[in-house]
Amino acid sequence: MAVLLPLPLAGPYDYRVGPESAYRAGDIVDVPLGARIATGVVWGPAKGDVEAGRIKDILSRRDVPPLPAALRRLIDFVSAYTLHPEGSVLRMALSVPDALEPPKPVRGYAMAPVMPSGIKMTPARQRVLKFMSEAPPLAAADIAREAGCGAAVVKGLADAGTLVSVDMAPLTDWAGPDPGRPGPVLSTEQSKAASDLVAAVGGGYKVTLLDGVPGSGKTEVYFEAAARALALGRQVLVMLPEIALSAQWLNRFQVRFGTEPALWHSELTPARRRDTWRAVADGRARVVVGARSALFLPFNELGLIVVDEEHDGSYKQQEGVIYNARDMAVARARFEDIPAVLVSATPSLETVTNVQRGRYSEAALPARHGGAAMPEISTIDMRHSGAGSRRWLSPELTAALEATLAAGEQAMLFLNRRGYAPLTLCRTCGHRLQCPRCTAWLVEHRLQGRLQCHHCGFTQSLPTVCPSCSDTDSFVPCGPGVERLAEEVAAAFPGRRVLIATSDTVHGPTEAARLVRMIEGGEIDIVIGTQIVAKGYHFPALTLVGVVDADLGLSGGEFRAAERTFQLLFQVAGRAGRAERPGRVLLQTYMPEHPVMQALAACERQAFLAAEAAAREAAGMPPFGRLVALIVSGTDEAAVDATAFGLGRAGPRDCAVRVLGPAPAALALLRGRHRRRLLLIAPKDVSVQPLVKDWLRRVPLAKKVRVQIDVDPIQFF
Ligand code: ADP
Ligand code: ZN
Repeated sequence: MAVLLPLPLAGPYDYRVGPESAYRAGDIVDVPLGARIATGVVWGPAKGDVEAGRIKDILSRRDVPPLPAALRRLIDFVSAYTLHPEGSVLRMALSVPDALEPPKPVRGYAMAPVMPSGIKMTPARQRVLKFMSEAPPLAAADIAREAGCGAAVVKGLADAGTLVSVDMAPLTDWAGPDPGRPGPVLSTEQSKAASDLVAAVGGGYKVTLLDGVPGSGKTEVYFEAAARALALGRQVLVMLPEIALSAQWLNRFQVRFGTEPALWHSELTPARRRDTWRAVADGRARVVVGARSALFLPFNELGLIVVDEEHDGSYKQQEGVIYNARDMAVARARFEDIPAVLVSATPSLETVTNVQRGRYSEAALPARHGGAAMPEISTIDMRHSGAGSRRWLSPELTAALEATLAAGEQAMLFLNRRGYAPLTLCRTCGHRLQCPRCTAWLVEHRLQGRLQCHHCGFTQSLPTVCPSCSDTDSFVPCGPGVERLAEEVAAAFPGRRVLIATSDTVHGPTEAARLVRMIEGGEIDIVIGTQIVAKGYHFPALTLVGVVDADLGLSGGEFRAAERTFQLLFQVAGRAGRAERPGRVLLQTYMPEHPVMQALAACERQAFLAAEAAAREAAGMPPFGRLVALIVSGTDEAAVDATAFGLGRAGPRDCAVRVLGPAPAALALLRGRHRRRLLLIAPKDVSVQPLVKDWLRRVPLAKKVRVQIDVDPIQFF
């Protein structure tokens, strides 16, 4: 039989089946690979390309449910579409090797029923015993953390007989979400949208765009479809961007279904990952909410996939296998023959076009729930506004902040720039502090007292002597980051409580939940945040949103810049005003006449999308044309150039297809690797994968040079 291994190999390898065993496609098996044993998946009948004398036996089958057929088809499809090795894609589905082992009982510690005498007491030991006198059995690491001591203290108490080792209950009991609990009473429009979605559940493949302004109740509406799938005995996958930050969403799920869903994201502990993977495979986990990698979980009874915030750029994985999880979610729905729901207040042009072409259906929620008005959006023309030097708030925005705070309401300032200042330069000679490994400025993070590269994580302290002119203490910050903005706000509004919310200050679900509680509880007057505050949150008392630099995303000239800026700012605007209090949004811009600003101020999404579509169609850009980017990289610049120029000369000889480049990438140096880009542009009806495969075969790669293939690129860094 052919067995696919989770390694960057082009395809499955043949293995022989011993006389007394039988294997089915999907079985997870151990096979010899050179001198070691590898774990792979039976992919199908043997291909017959290994000589009989050299073929080896499959050793054994793992005691886990076989990898479902639809998932295997998805893996084949992702590999063929993205041009990444099948084994690399399989690796994403077998991302938790431990989950394939027989479950081990987890050992923990509990208080001994009888205390031994003569124990030497220390303050740390006392803390442990006090904590354990009321706690259930726990792992040593958990006890140590709760009692604020080292694991050795716990171990010592166990050796002394004060704590005893016991089998612990499983991590989670995976109580099933209850679809029978009543949801909120839906409005007429919500009911209509919900019944469209519900009607599709249980039927075959169908994609529906659930389109509605922020606050229109999209989540409550797709919960109805999820409830239906659960009632039919099916599993549900909900994909969210930035799952680690979706505290409010989890709360609402709990209220609606009476229990928490299974979570899948990069911050799970290894034990929980293992547990969750198994629970999905054997059907104990009924609803999974996860980031893009959840798409490759081994669901056997999947009945519905929801992709929330479908337009979000974070669905595109940029490293390893470069794929778009939104698009591949639709592919999985097709292979499972189940419905998918794409949800957004600002759907991507791709999805809108698919609706117009009749490939996707649409369910729309035109108004906010409960009659709340969308906020009034207006621009502040920064060319004529006296913000003053080294100040970022215009008098208009400052006045609006004053009025909002005076009314006892909250405000949010949005600036998509982490740190204190995006650039630091020498006042004397103009020298700019740059990352030694990337084409990028170092960003000052004053709270940490460090300079940081946002691309590779390089950090250093602020130098006192300029490396270029040797002047001392000559470095000055240039431009605003959230920390610098917070300084200005603190000076302008003394005594007001300001909170900075960025990925530097909010790390995981617990901190995100705390932040949400602080804002909801009125402990904060002004939130200053980056894009992490742009999505999904509802704060009833937040009535003013100020966008400090609305033009930020428009520079750079990427063809999606306008669309992305519109989406981001519209989402940010959606944070303002809910329920009884109408909101107001002020956009500080140097180009108030730009179509994006005009569309936002007039709330003219349709017209904006139509203009955007026309421009794209004229230029042959997606979704009316196809793009494939090649990124050539390596540490030896000459070798990188040699390969890049080789590719440039050998581009496909198809007159409908154009190749741009090679050109230095925007990050021409990243983590010490030189980078060049080529871009293939083809009409929509051209199948680009065979062209690209053929192209790469014709060009020899220089030593240690890597070529990454990005089909349907979203970012052009
Ligand atoms: P969206 O996802 O479109 O931004 P949500 O589903 O998050 O909208 O709903 C916005 C807010 O309105 C939430 O607090 C939600 O609980 C509330 N809501 C929406 N629909 C209803 C309803 N029918 N009854 C009560 N509350 C609702
Ligand atoms: Zn760097």
